[in-house]
Amino acid sequence: MNFSTRAIHVGQEPDLETGAVNVPVYLTSTYAQESVGVVKFADYGRGDNPTRAALEAVVASLEVAQFAVAFSSGLSATDAMLRTLAPGDRVMLSADAYGGTYRMLTKIFGPWGIETDVVDLSDISAVESAWGEGTKLVWAETPSNPWLRIADIAALADVTHRHGATLVVDNTFATPYLQTPLTLGADVVMHSTTKYLGGHSDAIGGMLVTNDADVAARVKFFQYAIGAIPGPLDCYLIMRGIRTLAVRMDRHQENAAKVAAMLSRHERIERVWYPGLETHPNHKIAVDQMRGFGGMVSVEVAGGAARAKAFVEKTKVFTLAESLGGVESLIEIPAQMTHVSTSGSLLEIPDNFVRLSVGIEDADDLLEDLRQALS
Ligand SMILES: *Cc1c(COP(=O)(O)O)cnc(C)c1O
Repeated sequence: MNFSTRAIHVGQEPDLETGAVNVPVYLTSTYAQESVGVVKFADYGRGDNPTRAALEAVVASLEVAQFAVAFSSGLSATDAMLRTLAPGDRVMLSADAYGGTYRMLTKIFGPWGIETDVVDLSDISAVESAWGEGTKLVWAETPSNPWLRIADIAALADVTHRHGATLVVDNTFATPYLQTPLTLGADVVMHSTTKYLGGHSDAIGGMLVTNDADVAARVKFFQYAIGAIPGPLDCYLIMRGIRTLAVRMDRHQENAAKVAAMLSRHERIERVWYPGLETHPNHKIAVDQMRGFGGMVSVEVAGGAARAKAFVEKTKVFTLAESLGGVESLIEIPAQMTHVSTSGSLLEIPDNFVRLSVGIEDADDLLEDLRQALS
């Protein structure tokens, strides 16, 4: 079956007992046992939940993977993956990774003895030269946040595997509709399902996806033993979002391309970062590796921080807010909002930098809103 069909049907067959076409939200913390220790589905809700299992099944299918494990947030998925490491190990991280990933590595795993090397992963020679003794894991984000740089996943997988290490790709921005990293050689895909997969800014969730049975078993154990589980209603909401992922992504990127083109010609914009533009430094890899360029656009505003602030505060259709990937358009200043935790670090973002999550509203309304906000 093709993508859109799998998105709507895998894990979501009509309920056998009632015929309900939607997966029930199983609000249960425990399960009746047939006799002592003999269970029908599971013994306790932290271990397994049928709504969660349905969500995991559909995401595994979309990422062309055998295993998917759902978490209470993108960061709890990240946490579970990083717990597969041991003190003395090193992590190589995208130079503009999600701020919270960097914060977790440096503030939580750093004191536990795991070192982080920040490297521009879109530059393979930089990856080679930064490789250290203990580098066990490469954490790539492509497109990255907020510069939308593209790392060559197949090339990264080559280098990583030559050194016997593991490649994790945060696929939150692209979604499996536009890119399936496991088919390009990555070992694990991480998602903040809060974003495009959920798609309606109404639930927080995370996911780890892999074909490696050992990694899957370890992170599944962490999900259970740590208790980093999503609630059944959140699982349902994210699954409902996934059913329309393909049509939403088509519109997101159609609108984003129009926004990127208009802003590229605008006198108050110094530079536009969108992988679909030929001027983007990694455009060629994006064309080869992705099935589209996504809905995120970043810009550098001419005239500095004050002009950038005035711009984001003047939009009416674009809401000034953190996060991304919902049907509604959002605008923000990473240096002061999503990426504050990178201030003073190698990942610091310039203060005239604005990130747009282009929604699926009418394109003309979006363009008009941005024009008036820049005027
Ligand atoms: C939001 C986000 C995360 C963190 O996910 P949460 O669901 O907010 O915990 C990780 N990576 C990327 C690229 C994100 O956008």
